Amino acid sequence: MSSTTVSVVKDGMTSWRLFVPRSAGQVERFAADELIHYVNMISGATLQRSDRRRNTKLIIVGVRSDLDQKSLPKPKLGFDGYTISVSPETIVIAGDNPRGVLYGVYDLLERLGCRWYHPQLDPKDPEVVPKSASLALSMGEWSESARIEDRYYWMSSLAFTIVPERVVAQLDWAAKNRYNGVSWQCVWEKIDEHLNLMHFSGIFVQMQKRGLQLDGPGHSMPYFLKTQDYFDEHPDWFGLKNAQRQPHGGPWPATNYCTSNKEANETFMANVVDFVRKNPEIRQLDLIPADGGRPCECLLCQQRHATDQTVELFNELSERLEKVNPDVILTTVPGYCPIELPPERSVPNGKWQGIYAHWGRNHKCSYSDADYPRRQNLLVWASYFKRFQVCSYYAANSHQPFFGPPFLHALKADTEFYIEQGITGAFVLEYPFGFWWNNSFNVRMGGLYPYYCPDRDPVSEIRDYAIHYYGAEAGRVLAQYFLMLGDNRNLERSYRASRGEADAGDMDFFREMRTMIKRAEQLAEPNPIHSYRVSKLAMGMDFLLQLAPTRSRITAIQKVAEECIAGRSDVVELRTMIADARAMIALLEAEVERLAAAENGVISEEWLKGWILKRTYSDPLLLVEKKLDGLQENTPEKPNHIVDTNL
Ligand SMILES: [Zn+2]
Repeated sequence: MSSTTVSVVKDGMTSWRLFVPRSAGQVERFAADELIHYVNMISGATLQRSDRRRNTKLIIVGVRSDLDQKSLPKPKLGFDGYTISVSPETIVIAGDNPRGVLYGVYDLLERLGCRWYHPQLDPKDPEVVPKSASLALSMGEWSESARIEDRYYWMSSLAFTIVPERVVAQLDWAAKNRYNGVSWQCVWEKIDEHLNLMHFSGIFVQMQKRGLQLDGPGHSMPYFLKTQDYFDEHPDWFGLKNAQRQPHGGPWPATNYCTSNKEANETFMANVVDFVRKNPEIRQLDLIPADGGRPCECLLCQQRHATDQTVELFNELSERLEKVNPDVILTTVPGYCPIELPPERSVPNGKWQGIYAHWGRNHKCSYSDADYPRRQNLLVWASYFKRFQVCSYYAANSHQPFFGPPFLHALKADTEFYIEQGITGAFVLEYPFGFWWNNSFNVRMGGLYPYYCPDRDPVSEIRDYAIHYYGAEAGRVLAQYFLMLGDNRNLERSYRASRGEADAGDMDFFREMRTMIKRAEQLAEPNPIHSYRVSKLAMGMDFLLQLAPTRSRITAIQKVAEECIAGRSDVVELRTMIADARAMIALLEAEVERLAAAENGVISEEWLKGWILKRTYSDPLLLVEKKLDGLQENTPEKPNHIVDTNL
C-alpha cells in the first residue's frame, strides 16, 4: 500500500465502521446496505455499523445537508450530485440528494472494480465483482453530478407485460447506471391490473429504495374516457371516422376521442385528476393518445390543427393537476402521431412536458448532425417547453439491429446535443424484452453518459466493458470488435443484416467479425465465466450469419411474380421457389426456437418469428400466392393440377 492510498480491508478484516445519520431516509439506508453488501462480496469483510460519529476509521454515508459540510469540497453544479472524500481516518460519501448518495456509493464500488454491464437476469452470468482479501482506495476528494436532470429508462419488463423478478433486476441495473427514472408502458385495458401488481409484488418499494421515479402509463388515453362507460349515452364524445363514431382505442388504427367536445374533455380531465389522486407513485404522468391512433374527423376537429387541440387540452389539464399534486409532471409526446407538427395557434403554458419521440431513426444519425432529417422539427418543438425530454430508441428492435451493435456516434453526439440545447431529459426505450443482453451497452450508456458527460464517453466505456467483462485477453480482441461494429462507417451493415438484407460485402464483413469472436473464444477458454459470455456473443453472430443473406430469396420471388403476372415467366417455377423459401423459413424458425430456449437475452423468439420472419418473409409470400391464385383463375388454359404437383 502506497502512502497515497487508504487501506479499507486487509486480509479479509476491517476496522472501519459505517455511519449513517439518524435522519437518513430509505435511499441513503439502501445505499449503505449496497456498500456493505459489495465490500463483503469482494473481500469477505463485513463493515460494522456505528450509531455515532467516532474519530477514526469511519465511513460516513448521507446527504450533504445531514453532514458536516465545512470539511467537504463544493458540490458540482448539476443534478443528483455527490461528493466523495477519502482520507486516512475518514471516508465521506455525501449526496446532494438521496439519489446522489446512492450514486456516490456506486462510484466508490466501481473504483474497487465492480461493474454492472448487464441486468442480473442470467444466473450463469454474474455481475462483475472482483475477489480480493485486501481493499484500498486512493486518497482524494471529488464531486460529480448529472448534466441532464432526468434520465429515464423505458423498461422492456414494464412494457405491456410485467414479470416482477425481471422488473426488479432491470430497475436495480437502471439505478446502478445512474438512471433516475423508469417508464412503464401499458395498454389502457390493463392499467388497474398493472398498478395492483406493482403494489403487491413490491416493485414500487424497490423503486422507492433507489429513488427511481416512475413515468407512465403511456399510450393509454382511452382509459380516461372509456367506451364502455360513455359511448351509449354520449356517442358524440367519440372520434368520427368514415362518418361513424368510433370506440376510443380499439383495434389498430384506433381513433382518438373528439377533443372539440367540451363535455368529453371535462369528463376526461376529471378522470385524470381522480387517477392522479389515487396513484401518487407516478411522477411523470405520461398521457399519450392510442398508438397509431388518428384524430377525430368531425367538422370542428378538422377546422383545428390536431396539435393545437392537444396543446389546449394539456394546458387546461396541467392547471387542474397543479392544484391536486404539484409534483406530478404532465407529459405527452410531440413529434409523434397524431401531433408530429408543431402547433399553429396554441402555445404550451410551461406547466407540462414534451417527450420528443422519433420512431425509426437510424442511429448512424445523431440529433446534432446537420443531416438529421427532423432536426428542424425537434428544435422547434423543444423551444416550446421548459421541460423537454428526448426519447431515443437505442434498444427498440422494431428498427434497430437485434444483436446490439453499439451506437458509438449517436450515444455520444446525442448527449452533447441535449446539453447544448438545454434538453432536460434523456429517455431510452427498450422493446421487446427478449434481447435484453444484446441491448445492454446502448441502454447502459443512455443513462450513464448523460450523467458523466464529457467523461466516461461511449468509446472509453466499450473498452472498459470488453476488458472487464470478457477478461483482459479476450477483451483486447473484443474491444476492437465492438469499435468496428459500432463505427458509423460499418453500422449500416448491421441494419441490413438484421433485416436479412445483407449484400456480399456485408457477409464478408460479418464472417471476418466471426473470426474475431472465435479468437476471443480461444483466449477466454481458461475462464468458464468469460468463456460463457463470449459464447453468447458467438450465438448472436451465428444466427445473424444465417439470417443475413436470406431475404433476397423473398424479393426474388416478388420479382418473378411480377414477371408471371406480365405473362413473361413460368408459374410452375415460381411455385417451386415459394416452396423452397418456405422450407428455408421453417429452418430459420427452428433455429430461433432452439436459441431462444436458452433465455439468455440474446434472442427473442416471438419477435424474430413475428416481426421479421412472418411480417417480412411469410406474409409477402402469401401475398404473392394470392396474386397467383387470382391469375390462374383467370387463365383456364393452365389447369390447377399441374401447379398442385409442384407444391
Ligand atoms: Zn371531433
